[in-house]
Amino acid sequence: MKAKRLLSTLLAVVMLFSVVSVVSLAAGPYTFALTQGPEKTEYYDYEKFDPSGIVVTVTDSTNAIVETVYYSNSTAARFKFSPKVANTLSVAVTAVDVYLDGGFVASVPVTVSHRFEENVSLGSTKHGTRCAGCGYVIPDSMEEHTYDDTAWTPNDNQTFVKDNTESNFCLVCNHEIRREIDGSAGYDIEFGEYQFLHDIMVYIDLLLDLIFGAIKR
Ligand SMILES: [Zn+2]
Ligand SMILES: [Zn+2]
Repeated sequence: MKAKRLLSTLLAVVMLFSVVSVVSLAAGPYTFALTQGPEKTEYYDYEKFDPSGIVVTVTDSTNAIVETVYYSNSTAARFKFSPKVANTLSVAVTAVDVYLDGGFVASVPVTVSHRFEENVSLGSTKHGTRCAGCGYVIPDSMEEHTYDDTAWTPNDNQTFVKDNTESNFCLVCNHEIRREIDGSAGYDIEFGEYQFLHDIMVYIDLLLDLIFGAIKR
């Protein structure tokens, strides 16, 4: 009986040691290799790095493959990137460094380009070619807006006290400028439609109520 217990204890110890030795064999300096991906390496400067398609093979000191890690929602937390995936890429970025479990994997070359749009309004005076990502404007592309002075169109938004306005649009970028049409206030509109007149009547009613209330008292 005693011998049996001793034997089982011995067996347990041996098993424990063998598990430990297997673990220690597999441990040791791991090597990370980017074996696939990423799928996307060309970007505009309003986009963020997309790690989709990344596959990292982890090998131990004996060159045996320990693990193959496919980038996905479930493995994303093990990956780190520089610049970070949360950041919009800039044209200054030429590579994204990939890390797995804190260890460097590879530097992935990427190209990041401006996304230029022509004839964009740059405000009240000029239009030009501007990057939709970073907002950079090509200096030589800047020009003053141009309007056809015979092409003013009324907006029909006058009120009883405020003149109507009319708009003109830049022939190149469609930038809108407005001006008032003098003396157009109050035209085309029925008196009764004015909310402010209605409001005044309500206040007069209230005042009268107050005055009569005071007299009665
Ligand atoms: Zn840009
Ligand atoms: Zn313009």
